[in-house]
Amino acid sequence: MNLKEFIRDVQDFPKPGIGFKDITPLLLNPQALQEGLNQFVKLVEGKKLDKVVSMESRGFFFGPLIANAIGAGFVPVRKPNKLPYETIQQEYALEYGTDILEMHVDAIQKGDKVLIHDDVLATGGTAEAVVKMVEKAGGEVVQLDFLIDLTFLNGKEKLEGYTINSLIKY
Ligand code: AMP
Repeated sequence: MNLKEFIRDVQDFPKPGIGFKDITPLLLNPQALQEGLNQFVKLVEGKKLDKVVSMESRGFFFGPLIANAIGAGFVPVRKPNKLPYETIQQEYALEYGTDILEMHVDAIQKGDKVLIHDDVLATGGTAEAVVKMVEKAGGEVVQLDFLIDLTFLNGKEKLEGYTINSLIKY
């Protein structure tokens, strides 16, 4: 099964000039959803992981499925002021200005082995911020697994030294 067939390109969303990778057709198809999950589980075969950390909001589709399948806990990373309890924060650069991501202060224990997951690796800024936040909390980033890597944006360069996988590449 070729998962790429289930990704829909939407031009000029959310802004003119952006080619948005819409993963909802993949989520909609039960066989494609199962195949995606199987492939993600295979990527961590034999690795002991404590937590799967995913970022708002499209990381939340596969993140908890992977966590459940491998017997790990799930940790949501969110935009500011969304999480109810005490948080740690990480600032990161956008094209114009900066943004902040937050995670609950008790989500990662020292020494936790962590898988980071998101739907799309683009410039790598978001993933880099999550890596920093997990490490600040004392976690060990074992690898980063994405559904899609927009390789032409060279996101991997921001994540040098880390193990990075993706199921679909453009
Ligand atoms: P970046 O920090 O540039 O790697 O951007 C990654 C985040 O932006 C991910 O959480 C993606 O959900 C989202 N994203 C960036 N580019 C796209 C795209 N072309 N299609 C869908 N989502 C994208």
